[in-house]
Amino acid sequence: MKGFWRLLSRIKDYKRSFILSIASNILLSIFTVISIPLLIPFFQILFDRTQTIPQRPSGNDINEWIKYYISDAIAVYGKETTLLWVCASLILVFFLKNLFRYSALYFMAPLRNGIIYDLRKQLYNKYLDLPLSFYSNERKGSLLSSMTLDVQEVEWSVLNVIEVIFKSPIIMLGSIFFMFYISPALTFFVFILVVFAGFIIGKIVTSLRENSSNVQDLIGNLTAHVEETLGSLRIIKGFNAEQYQASKFEKENESFRKSLTKVVTRRDMAAPVSEFLGVTVVTILMWYGSNLVFQNTLAPETFFAFVFAFYQVIEPAKSFSSAYFNIQKGLASIDRIDRILDTPNDIISKPNAISKTSLEKEIRFEHVSFSYKDNDYSALSDVSITIQKGQVIALVGSSGAGKSTFVDLLPRFYDVTSGTISIDGFDVRDIALDDLRHLFGIVTQDPILFHDTIANNISFGNTKYTPDEIKNAAVIANAHDFISALPEGYNTSIGDRGLKLSGGQRQRLTIARAILRNPPVLILDEATSALDSESERLVQDALHKVMESRTSVVVAHRLSTIQQADVILVLENGRIVEQGTHTELTAKNGPYKRFVEMQSFA
Ligand code: ADP
Repeated sequence: MKGFWRLLSRIKDYKRSFILSIASNILLSIFTVISIPLLIPFFQILFDRTQTIPQRPSGNDINEWIKYYISDAIAVYGKETTLLWVCASLILVFFLKNLFRYSALYFMAPLRNGIIYDLRKQLYNKYLDLPLSFYSNERKGSLLSSMTLDVQEVEWSVLNVIEVIFKSPIIMLGSIFFMFYISPALTFFVFILVVFAGFIIGKIVTSLRENSSNVQDLIGNLTAHVEETLGSLRIIKGFNAEQYQASKFEKENESFRKSLTKVVTRRDMAAPVSEFLGVTVVTILMWYGSNLVFQNTLAPETFFAFVFAFYQVIEPAKSFSSAYFNIQKGLASIDRIDRILDTPNDIISKPNAISKTSLEKEIRFEHVSFSYKDNDYSALSDVSITIQKGQVIALVGSSGAGKSTFVDLLPRFYDVTSGTISIDGFDVRDIALDDLRHLFGIVTQDPILFHDTIANNISFGNTKYTPDEIKNAAVIANAHDFISALPEGYNTSIGDRGLKLSGGQRQRLTIARAILRNPPVLILDEATSALDSESERLVQDALHKVMESRTSVVVAHRLSTIQQADVILVLENGRIVEQGTHTELTAKNGPYKRFVEMQSFA
């Protein structure tokens, strides 16, 4: 329920809409209640039960008062005209009632959609903000479904509830007050019936709740699976794994179907059961009320009004019970959303963070150890190394040795578990995060590009770069020639993740992106053999141009890069087992030599 109150607290940003909507609801309720006694004169005239009442009634029997006024009116205007007036006021009251019903919804719309808008925005920003470590334990599809389905669910269920909470009680109280006023005995009788019916409906609702939160989890799994499939079609087809994927999907789809059928069949039971119970209650009420009429303790037209008032109670009571069910369903979604929004992010700038825009001297690792959350082993253990400005550092080692971890610690994608990484003597955790990340340019092994134009991919939407600067970066990255050959040049849209370009072209765009940013330190995860030799030469050449005059940390896969490196770090199981230049290390006849011999470098 905590999540629910938190959601309610979001209303305060939409005070105006909220107040207007509540005011409309109050007016709606008032007109609903007013419409009840208006039926009495109608029946009085129809059944010809109006006697002339010469003096004002003394008590507060509403029936007597209405009789008094109606007989007065009939004496002056005649029966037909009075009936016409009664009908006209009935229409007017119902017109006003529905006008306010609409305005209540009208003012609620900006509030509902505003809250949903805020939730989406906050979730998206949170996704951008959360550290990479968060994503190791999450399925992308589930995060997507939180953004779409859970948010939608909140809109449907919880915000509906808000409407019900502020509307139904007023109508119910008004009607009950009226019923009580007409006949306390009958009202009491009705209550016992309603409580009994409510108890049965409550039982059904409770069993529904258990199933429905499960359904939301399952749809999340389903989306995750589809998302994964769409992202890996090439591999699925290449490995003829369609059947395998299809059967995995089939399993998830099947359990979703089962759970959903359970929920739906229970839910569908609610309407027939409640109608049957409702009719039973009303019939018993009719029976009991008619007996009161026979005994002359109740006027028939008052009894009609009573039944009508009772009907006005039933509707909001029903929406109350369905709101109760909905809120249970929505709470599961709120919890999922809140869990994401509440995930703490420990990789942030300190309040008194230092501004640092250049590398003057060195980057230093001192006894750095790191283990990933949930892993009981260290990805890096006691790593100490100093990287001088201008040096090229090559990291070599078999897969899983800790090379990517080493480079990920530099821009604080993760924070060290122990030890320190410092830049010119400043701990990276003390440097403003934006500044720190500006110090590094990153070229990943798989070129990461976006569905946008070439120019925007290179500048990454940063408007501070001119078209000329973008072009120069492309020239250095050996990308300008192929870009100019495209029909729309720099304005060509490159498709999903750059699918319209070749591997080498994509890689050169990411290099141009790094060049344009002109970072003091380059982090490079060398592309391996995915490229043909011509592409590879162009990429290689581009990389050499960027690395010139820069400090570079390279996860090296090519002998040529390794040979040129000022320092080679050989990693094994997260430890530096050897370091030195190519010549020094080859002479040593140690792990490096074995490693080089084992790899068939091109
Ligand atoms: P390399 O880049 O040399 O192949 P990594 O730095 O990627 O090695 O991995 C080092 C170790 O950390 C490996 O044992 C790997 O399984 C583990 N590891 C890498 N990334 C994660 C992660 N996100 N969550 C948990 N463990 C990870």
